[in-house]
Amino acid sequence: MMARLFQKILIANRGEIALRIQRACRELDIPTVAVHSTADSQAMHVRLADESVCIGPPSARDSYLNVAAILSAAAVTGADAIHPGYGFLSENAGFAEMVEAHGLTFIGPSSAHIRMMGDKIAAKTAMASIGVPLVPGSEGALVDLDAAREVAGRIGYPVLIKAAAGGGGRGMKVAMDASELDEAWTVARTEARTAFGNDAVYLEKYLDRPRHIEMQVMADSHGSVVHFGERDCSLQRRHQKLLEEAGSPALTGEERDALGAVVCEGLRNLGYRNAGTLEFLYQDGQFSFIEMNTRLQVEHPVTEMVCGVDLVREQIRIAAGEKLGYTQADVHFSGHAIECRITAEDPVTFAPTPGKVSVFHAPGGLGVRVDSALYAGYVVPPYYDSLVAKLIVHAPTRPEAIARMRRALAEFAVVGIKTTIPLHQRIVEDPEFQAGDYTIHWLERFVDTHRGD
Ligand code: ADP
Repeated sequence: MMARLFQKILIANRGEIALRIQRACRELDIPTVAVHSTADSQAMHVRLADESVCIGPPSARDSYLNVAAILSAAAVTGADAIHPGYGFLSENAGFAEMVEAHGLTFIGPSSAHIRMMGDKIAAKTAMASIGVPLVPGSEGALVDLDAAREVAGRIGYPVLIKAAAGGGGRGMKVAMDASELDEAWTVARTEARTAFGNDAVYLEKYLDRPRHIEMQVMADSHGSVVHFGERDCSLQRRHQKLLEEAGSPALTGEERDALGAVVCEGLRNLGYRNAGTLEFLYQDGQFSFIEMNTRLQVEHPVTEMVCGVDLVREQIRIAAGEKLGYTQADVHFSGHAIECRITAEDPVTFAPTPGKVSVFHAPGGLGVRVDSALYAGYVVPPYYDSLVAKLIVHAPTRPEAIARMRRALAEFAVVGIKTTIPLHQRIVEDPEFQAGDYTIHWLERFVDTHRGD
């Protein structure tokens, strides 16, 4: 038996991602600790963990975001590392610092890098310094509305006012022309102040028909950085991703290699460590950086399927100080993968649909993966993110992956609550989607068109 990388890992998250991390830990023979709110005592991540600790009431602020309770849970269970998953505390530099200050390992990048990339203005400055192309816009934060007018006049409308501390598509406002700038400025700043407690905003050219293409990277603490290719996450509603693909239907292998090389070289120079994703807008053959996520992402499974890599296992190994042990030349891309994010929402109105799941039957068969914490009898609580399942398929070609997704969606039975499965069924039947012919604006129009169905 090999020595364990960690004695015990506490997973500071819930839902499917907590299960995903538990699975990687189990294969590495590392015991896990689940934390949960009182609303989640019957949750699957609690049932499957080796140990669990209740950390507070339903509200995320008092439980999954409760740093003191989480650190106490680690102390009483003897965990020596914490995996934050995505969302919640995963991009909170202060939390990463506290974890390390308590003598535990934070499974992720250094707190300095989390802090740097969490401020989108600092992130853009850092990226520019390592030769990564940016969306044209203001240099740094805008001091006042006049400064916004000046930059917008220079780069041309439409423009986007964005919150430096933004996330989850909030604190972002478009101005189609000069007459809309005043309002966009006020709305974006108010939203930024309310949502993030920081009203610093910057301005970017609003691209009219880009794709969202992001690069998955992994870096060890010995100077090795590799990328695992791109994901196309252009299918979004309200700046939130619904369906992702690897690779992008719009990108050639040469374009991927070229972008990947720039990104890896840059992150090596920054001394970045662990998993990260650089997000770009891609239009007219040009990549423009928008932000970097310093954590595992929801859509990481499509990358795992085409690369045959366990990204969570890699995160854990790197956090324990191991070397990657392979180079870019060892990373191979095989076939095509698609992920549908299935949420507990009405497929037409998107109203949340928490409640009891009476029947749960997940699809299976060749090339099908379901990451979900649902089970028959489970009650989806109203307090958290509405994501309840990720359905991922892998096949040799994109048309075969679409056929497989169609088949798997038809097999998927979730009874008792409404989900977005019917929406995904309509998307995969659409000729434009099948042709790979879409931008970040495609899905909003598609949803509007199907509202009358
Ligand atoms: P967040 O951190 O809130 O997710 P991002 O900067 O990642 O914000 O942007 C989210 C989405 O908003 C992008 O995927 C894209 O669809 C859209 N977006 C962001 N910047 C621009 C831009 N300059 N032009 C057009 N769309 C944009």
